[in-house]
Amino acid sequence: MPLIIDGKEIAKKVKLEVANKASQLSVKLGRAPCLAVVLVGDDPASHSYVKNKERAAKEVGIATKQTNLPANVTAEVLEKTLTELNNNLEIDAILLQLPLPKHLKSDYFLELISPSKDADGLHSFNQGELLKGNKSVVRPCTPSGVIRLIDEALEILEPNHSLTNRDISYAGKTAVVVGRSVLVGKPVALQLLERDATVFMAHSKTPNLSAVCQTADILVAACGQPNLINAEFVNPNCIVIDVGTTRVFHESEKRYVLAGDVDFESTKELVRAITPVPGGVGPMTVAMLLSNTVKLAEVKLQS
Ligand code: NAP
Repeated sequence: MPLIIDGKEIAKKVKLEVANKASQLSVKLGRAPCLAVVLVGDDPASHSYVKNKERAAKEVGIATKQTNLPANVTAEVLEKTLTELNNNLEIDAILLQLPLPKHLKSDYFLELISPSKDADGLHSFNQGELLKGNKSVVRPCTPSGVIRLIDEALEILEPNHSLTNRDISYAGKTAVVVGRSVLVGKPVALQLLERDATVFMAHSKTPNLSAVCQTADILVAACGQPNLINAEFVNPNCIVIDVGTTRVFHESEKRYVLAGDVDFESTKELVRAITPVPGGVGPMTVAMLLSNTVKLAEVKLQS
């Protein structure tokens, strides 16, 4: 029987760890660790994501401070907002909810967040430190969630691995990452490499993708192409992590559903372990955001 990797359960475990750290930090700081959330515009999906993140923060003892700005806000006002949050000693981490309205370039504003308050781990300083293998800085949330899912799956499948410091080795394993974005594919590949996997990166120009994927002991699909990865792409020894989330219209159900990059039904019996969509990587992204928030607060206390 293949292992269905339960992202909701593993996210609960991460949140419990975060709650313990947040409670210790609250004593040391004299206040709860605080995540500032900046939301620009009226996009309903963004509002719903922010609401979820704030609810999850509250559950683990992290305070939130939300700043809502109108869709037509000027670059100057957004800059000023981020600068004030950077300078506010009561704020430990800052999240700028993406996407921004078209007149605001997200890359520019992500760089304005202080690397020491970069809850999403997307500042180029932190991405650069990841490239160098520095584990003391925060890392992008979704990729860290992917790695934690693989760690947890291996803990079940190969219990001789030691998870005492969460640095288990993937030596001897071939990993294939489909997708090379800065948000997901590249940081996932770097962290797989850091854990000693032999890593191949595939993208839209990769010929014979199914043959490349078939070689994988660990296959991470992050290409945003619903159901691209099917039975022809996997082997019985493969751990499959599906990052993809695309809203597609389900004809028979007459409603939109979330589709992963992996055709779960046709592959699940043919692999060693697999994540579902939803309920796999998605819950981990929020959990790792909370984990980054307490990490930033801890680092601030130590400095
Ligand atoms: P992205 O920036 O659009 O990058 C997609 C990557 O996939 C690109 O590198 C692209 O190759 C590659 N690709 C596209 N079509 C392909 C094909 N047919 N074969 C092989 N590679 C292909 O997307 P992203 O931000 O990385 O996100 C990827 C997926 O993950 C999306 O569905 C997104 O919604 C989802 N996501 C989920 C979470 C979560 O929390 N669950 C978080 C973030 C993202 P090129 O570089 O050659 O164009």
